[in-house]
Amino acid sequence: MITKIADGIYARKIIVAGEPWPLTTYLWITKNHNLYLDAGLGENALLELSEYADPSKKNTLVYSHYHFDHVWGGHALKDPEILAHRRFLDHQVHLEKDRLNLIRFAEGKNEIALPTRYIDDDLDFDDELRILYAPGHTDDGLMVYHKTLHILFMGDVAADEGRDLPELAGSVDSYLATLKKLEGLRIKQILCSHRDPEDANYLNILVENAYILRKNCQ
Ligand SMILES: [Zn+2]
Ligand SMILES: [Zn+2]
Repeated sequence: MITKIADGIYARKIIVAGEPWPLTTYLWITKNHNLYLDAGLGENALLELSEYADPSKKNTLVYSHYHFDHVWGGHALKDPEILAHRRFLDHQVHLEKDRLNLIRFAEGKNEIALPTRYIDDDLDFDDELRILYAPGHTDDGLMVYHKTLHILFMGDVAADEGRDLPELAGSVDSYLATLKKLEGLRIKQILCSHRDPEDANYLNILVENAYILRKNCQ
C-alpha cells in the first residue's frame, strides 16, 4: 500500500508474510531528485513507487545499510545514482549469500544494483538534503534529513515495531553517538523502515532505551 505522507513524500508499506515486521520503502520527490530510500525486497517496491515519481528528475537511490530487506531490486530504476556508505563494500559477501538463501522473501526479481557512489561521512546532498552517517545497527548505516520539510528517515536506526531498540552490531556508545548527532535538528516527523512514522519525541525514547541497555550491560 502506498500512502502520501507529505507533499512529494510517499511510503510503500508491506506486511512480510510469516514475519512480525512490516517493511516501508520511501520515495521523496525533491527539487532535483526522485529520491528512493531503500530498495525493499525486490523490484516491486521501486516499480510501484516510481509510478509517483517525476520523470523530469534524476533517479537517486540511497541504501540505508546492507541488510537484504533494504537492497533488493535497485535494477528496477532507470539509470539511478546509488549512494551507500563506504563500509557497505565490506558486506558484499553477505549480499549475494542473502540474495540466494532468503529468496523466499523476494517481491519480484531480487537483483542487487551496486552503489555508484560511496559516502565516508555526513554530506549535504543537493540543497534540501543532508545524509548522515549512522553507525550502530550496522557499521554502514545512513540516515537522510530533509532540511525544508524537517523529515528524518532513520531506516533501521529506529527499532522494529514492538521493540525498544534495533539490533546493534556495534557498541551501544556508537549507537548513542548516532542519536546525539540528531539533537540540533528540527524534526517534525521520523520515518522508519519497520515501524510507522514517529514524531521527534521518539528520539528521546530511543536515547533512554539505549542508556538502559548500556547500564544493563555493565
Ligand atoms: Zn537492518
Ligand atoms: Zn531492515
